[in-house]
Amino acid sequence: MADRAYMYCPYCRNQGNARAELLIDNNTDFHCLMGHRAPRATMMALQPEMIPTEVHFKPGPNDVKAEIWVNSEVLMQAKEKLGQRFHPTIASLIRCCMAGEPVVIDGQQAAELRKLNVKNGAEMVAVAKLNNELAGQVDSLTEQLNRWETRFSDAMAGAK
Ligand SMILES: [Zn+2]
Repeated sequence: MADRAYMYCPYCRNQGNARAELLIDNNTDFHCLMGHRAPRATMMALQPEMIPTEVHFKPGPNDVKAEIWVNSEVLMQAKEKLGQRFHPTIASLIRCCMAGEPVVIDGQQAAELRKLNVKNGAEMVAVAKLNNELAGQVDSLTEQLNRWETRFSDAMAGAK
């Protein structure tokens, strides 16, 4: 049985038919149903258009179906919004709750973080570290400035 290559046939495309799918019949040859056939490298050199893959959720071997109580409207909205990502998203949230002390950020704050280009935990940590570093630099500059001010006023006092 032939596998999908998730690409459209570039030969067909060049003849005006952009939607003929390429199939893989062994590990090296691609072909389409219009009779075009070429090794993978030859097809790739013609820059075939990729077919975006739809991710279909499949439970893992150790997954069980769980029951939770949730507001029916919220559930409906979540299923609509997340689609195939519904199960993996909820599962990863549950896993997140089990991993130490999770920080959950939602709504307004999440939107603000996104606006600041902070998209995940790693980036939040990086920003917080940088902030501490800069705060330390400000402290040491303030200290230097204070020392100069003292010297300056000492010098002024001496000049009188
Ligand atoms: Zn073709």
